[in-house]
Amino acid sequence: MCPLAGRLFNRRGRFCCHVLVVESEQGLVLVDTALGVEAMSALAAWTSATFVRLVRPQADPAKTALRQLEARGFSARDVRHILLTHLDTDHAGGIADFPAAEVHVLADEHAVASSRTTMRDRERYNPRHWAHGPTWRLHRPRGERWYGFEAVRDVPGLPPEVLLVPLPGHSRGQCGVAVDVGNRWLLHCGDAFMHHEELLGPSAGPLALRLFQQAEADDRALREANLTRLRDLAASVGEGMAIFCAHDPEQLERLQARPEAG
Ligand SMILES: [Zn+2]
Repeated sequence: MCPLAGRLFNRRGRFCCHVLVVESEQGLVLVDTALGVEAMSALAAWTSATFVRLVRPQADPAKTALRQLEARGFSARDVRHILLTHLDTDHAGGIADFPAAEVHVLADEHAVASSRTTMRDRERYNPRHWAHGPTWRLHRPRGERWYGFEAVRDVPGLPPEVLLVPLPGHSRGQCGVAVDVGNRWLLHCGDAFMHHEELLGPSAGPLALRLFQQAEADDRALREANLTRLRDLAASVGEGMAIFCAHDPEQLERLQARPEAG
């Protein structure tokens, strides 16, 4: 995505949509989907006219999760589960490419995206993405905490090394997804923050991006509180955990260079 005035948001002047693929004994698990193949051919209908004008997603079907998986020899049916950090179009816009997958999301997020009672929610959530009637799996925190955070553990069908970590604020039921890859944890934080420097301190990272996120947040105070907890976590675990967000291209490139990224 090439947002207007993008160079105020990060050095590249663009946002990626960071999708994680986990190869597990239960099949492939996707964390977020970004925009899908059909969305690429009708961006305004699958996102919104405002989103297209301001965030400027680039239509390139080869970049979709489905086409990238196919290029590696997989098919849509190999994806058994999709875990969504939240239901904004740039995260859930590809679930229709994987109609056989169970779609996991926090119950709070599903409720607010289904009812779309405010103008803001009608703008951010597009029911076209789930018009195919996916099998939803709705979750609430349960089980042992994870590094002090509430968590959803031992989800039926999901490998035990994958868990949901609620991080509301950007949206009502936004969550992170933690994956134990053996030698360390990956924590995909969705839109809990958007630039790696934000983990360094409350006044770190590009100012315009911080203001943008405050303006976009469903609950600013909650978002800030969760970001503070993520900073504390990052400071305490160091290299033992990769904490990353959906839209930082530098983080994506760094992680792609690691062996667990394949
Ligand atoms: Zn996003």
